[in-house]
Amino acid sequence: MTTHQELAEVYMDQPHEISLETISLCNAACTFCPYPTLDRKGDKMPDELVEKIISEMEGFTIPFFFSPFKVNEPLLDKRLYDICNEVTSRTVAMLRIFSNGAALTQRHIDRLAKLERVFHFWVSLNSVDPEEYEQLMDMPYERTAKRLDNLHAQEFPHPVVLSKVGNMDYGFIRYIKRRWPKFHTVIIKKDGWLGDVEPNDPTIPDDSCSRWFELSIISSGVVSLCCMDGQARFPIGDCRESTLLEIYNAPHWRDRRENLSSRHTIDVCKTCTY
Ligand code: SF4
Repeated sequence: MTTHQELAEVYMDQPHEISLETISLCNAACTFCPYPTLDRKGDKMPDELVEKIISEMEGFTIPFFFSPFKVNEPLLDKRLYDICNEVTSRTVAMLRIFSNGAALTQRHIDRLAKLERVFHFWVSLNSVDPEEYEQLMDMPYERTAKRLDNLHAQEFPHPVVLSKVGNMDYGFIRYIKRRWPKFHTVIIKKDGWLGDVEPNDPTIPDDSCSRWFELSIISSGVVSLCCMDGQARFPIGDCRESTLLEIYNAPHWRDRRENLSSRHTIDVCKTCTY
């Protein structure tokens, strides 16, 4: 596992990951996600701003992740594949694609398969019990499960991860191994999203944070504090007014990476369970 010190040695000046919410839209309404409460639902990042961000990432020389999502479902943006192809042809980024899988038609599978440098295609599945799934995500389980059957039945060139938010669940892992043995499984703890969601464990880690090495951008161009700041209530910059590197290296943000102090001493972060 990469430590924060190792991240600091490589990614002091340049982000390790850029998350970009190109459209603020999702087809689910998960109980563990702040999407249902967002004011910006339906907003789309203008093409010119997407281009500005990609052109700035062209100057990044250290490999980094480009993740075309934040609090949204990336398959709902028709521009997804054009944006990803621009990013991989013009930058040194690897792609992380994170989806709930409900919109994963054959057309999407074909286009995903053609993308280059995909680190993983990650599906937030969360339950294999149809009733629980529908309560958690407000979508039909069978449709998503059939989409995953179709994906599993073909040669797909990228690693596929199926995840569950919540406590360790060996039943979930066993089911995945049986029905979709080619896919990987990850269990993620349910975090608090800075007060928007009830966390599994309210403990605030006495540690620095890997998210200080990233920029998490919503559709307006505002850079939120991090992935946990779903509403962008604690912005650290705005891509319309500043470059990515100006925001990343602004003293108030860079200081965190230089000092790697415990989050217990840092405003907002000292309330975070991540
Ligand atoms: S709010 Fe939490 S996840 Fe975000 S940067 Fe601070 S400690 Fe990290």
